[in-house]
Amino acid sequence: MPIWHASLRRDFDMPPEWRIMSDAFILNRGRLNHMDSLQFNVSQLLREPSGATRSYELDDDISDLTDQVQVTAPLRGTVQFTRTSDGILVEGDLETSVQVLCSRCAIDFVQPVRIEMEEEFRPTYDVVTGLRIVYDESIELDDATMIDERHMLDLSEVMRQNLIVSVPPFPTCKPDCAGLCPHCGQDLNEGTCNCLADSTDSRWSVLQDLLDQRTNPA
Ligand SMILES: [Zn+2]
Ligand SMILES: [Zn+2]
Repeated sequence: MPIWHASLRRDFDMPPEWRIMSDAFILNRGRLNHMDSLQFNVSQLLREPSGATRSYELDDDISDLTDQVQVTAPLRGTVQFTRTSDGILVEGDLETSVQVLCSRCAIDFVQPVRIEMEEEFRPTYDVVTGLRIVYDESIELDDATMIDERHMLDLSEVMRQNLIVSVPPFPTCKPDCAGLCPHCGQDLNEGTCNCLADSTDSRWSVLQDLLDQRTNPA
């Protein structure tokens, strides 16, 4: 388990001797978590002029990124880092999938999720002088988008937030899921129940059931 984390670390910006040191450091940290795989050393990119870019292909296990959704597939896709005058703009187009409950019939199913993200990260320390950067009070800083003192850019919190908002609020197992009978709970995908036959005018009750489902999604 610890091995894949080490192999997913992206130290392309580091000279080889640093890479060895940092891998040893990581392997000595005991239990590893997702934080390692979504960290990027950007010290070299920060030294480059505005417009300089790096692209990274991700294929990462993010199953422990959040408790709010159950991730069932690796996070795959591309992130592009672009040096800006203020820091580094991260643009990502990624895919994964999550386990969700159908909002109509309540079965578990796997929902593919696309994550399109765009976030600008800012350095905490000047990469050339090593001095802490003092930001004007008018600039809103967010801990999730600060590059740390080791010039590591950590995508995990931004990715967690983007993942959660990318999951549809009312997922459906299939576009035409018939849902559950609001009266007896029968899964109408598996067949009709007797509730409709019991009512006085079945044509109207079908409409009423549809209205009920619209106004009160399960
Ligand atoms: Zn369903
Ligand atoms: Zn029924």
